[in-house]
Amino acid sequence: MTFYSEKSKEKNILEALNAYYPSIKIALNFSNVWELLVATILSAQCTDERVNIITKDLFVKYTTIPEYANAPLEEITYSIRSAGLFRSKAGYIKKSAQKILKNYSGHVPKTMSELLSLPGVARKTANVVLYNGYGKNEGIAVDTHVKRISNLLGLTESENPQKVEKDLLSLYPREEWGNLNHRLVQYGRDICIARRPKCEICVLKKECAHYQKTLQK
Ligand code: SF4
Repeated sequence: MTFYSEKSKEKNILEALNAYYPSIKIALNFSNVWELLVATILSAQCTDERVNIITKDLFVKYTTIPEYANAPLEEITYSIRSAGLFRSKAGYIKKSAQKILKNYSGHVPKTMSELLSLPGVARKTANVVLYNGYGKNEGIAVDTHVKRISNLLGLTESENPQKVEKDLLSLYPREEWGNLNHRLVQYGRDICIARRPKCEICVLKKECAHYQKTLQK
């Protein structure tokens, strides 16, 4: 299936991002898929830097899924207290561990529908876990960066994360979803920064609908 023509805007954007970031990986630290899931749950409304500080101690204190499942909730809550929404997240982590033990033989599930059955796991978290934990391109995790840049570039006109994801999935072949996802997030941190985008040095400005419409005048 052909998604874009040789000179299409979508292709140019992806090629420019690939050239800008020849290799890239998720900024969260983890050593197994369960830790990836925990770090991703923690990352909602929290910077990756903060999550990595929290998990540095957390992943030493608890090393197995049963340890999370059996730990007193107050203890987990205290361990992650510097994260936003830490009370809810502590509950999600403990209950997810319990459900994985009960329903999935102690293994983090590998399908979107199973992951979505875990407490606190929405499509964005599931996409991150499937791609970074299992190498599966099931979708694109639409965070604030992906949503903002996709709109500025003109790849979508929606503010709704589900619709943004749908638009991006229709524009790019499946094998590129994870690559594109990582690069858009990093580009939003480095160059297309909310409130102060560095348009003058942006490698996407030729393809950027916002730049072409307004900033070039
Ligand atoms: S030209 Fe400016 S607004 Fe457009 S993608 Fe680049 S940094 Fe963002």
